[in-house]
Amino acid sequence: MNTVIGQGKADLHNHTTASDGLLSPAQLVRFAAIKGLKAIAITDHDTTEGIDEGLRAGQFYKIKVIPGIELNTQLDSVEIHLLGYFINWNSEYLQKILFKMRDIRKNRAKKMVEKLVNLYGFDISYEEVLKEAKEGAVARPHIARVLISKGIVKDMSEAFEKYIGTDCPAYVGRYHLTPKEGIELIEICGGVPVLAHPGLITVPGIAEMMLDQGIKGIEAYHSKHTQEQAEYYSELAKKSGLLITGGTDCHGELFDGMPIIGDVSVGMDAVEELKHLSRQK
Ligand code: AMP
Ligand code: FE
Ligand code: FE
Ligand code: ZN
Repeated sequence: MNTVIGQGKADLHNHTTASDGLLSPAQLVRFAAIKGLKAIAITDHDTTEGIDEGLRAGQFYKIKVIPGIELNTQLDSVEIHLLGYFINWNSEYLQKILFKMRDIRKNRAKKMVEKLVNLYGFDISYEEVLKEAKEGAVARPHIARVLISKGIVKDMSEAFEKYIGTDCPAYVGRYHLTPKEGIELIEICGGVPVLAHPGLITVPGIAEMMLDQGIKGIEAYHSKHTQEQAEYYSELAKKSGLLITGGTDCHGELFDGMPIIGDVSVGMDAVEELKHLSRQK
């Protein structure tokens, strides 16, 4: 963990019920307060619907809430996730594209449910998946949660390993922005593009290839990075003149009553630098 003790900590990667997280924005911020964080970013997939509630909760709990987003982009068949910080989430241009992305997600979820029913005879429906997603952007974890609730799989990992992972029979791809388009979109709405969890990119060398594509930072610290990966990507960021960021990628699961938010963090200096690079002065 990269922590600056005494100067406040920030967890810059979190999901809420606006996408595939289990905690509402207000619940997430409340847990951030319990964990003693000074700032968090709300980075839902393809949606900014959690930001307003998060900001209100931030005022209440005295936590700085950074308006953000996570865009899952694709280059050929390789997924490259981008985080956008200090975005102008009210941008009409942004909202138009996000609406389209969420619509594509719905159609894709419907197709995946059809495959799960036709290939395996599972008793699940698209309506149940939509209900699981509530008002949020539909993502594969919502399908997994329906499979869990029906006793078809025991947990999320089993759902991804057997049925809905990228190489599984019931997987259906969806339209993705390219990394270049994702970076441009974040910049158009005044935000700062950061390469998310490079250690999870399945093809070696891709993170290095992204260095001169317009990203401003690298998420070197992430709950699924090893110590070696954290060190390697911090060094890579430093060498390339990019910011080092980090966060848990909290999706709200509770362990002994607590989510992982704050278990990976960076100092408030990273927040200041991100803000400085954004158009939100
Ligand atoms: P989607 O955007 O609908 O393709 O779903 C991607 C989301 O599924 C990611 O943001 C993660 O939250 C989750 N996910 C992807 N792979 C796994 C996995 N192997 N185990 C658990 N969750 C996963
Ligand atoms: Fe997710
Ligand atoms: Fe991601
Ligand atoms: Zn994420």
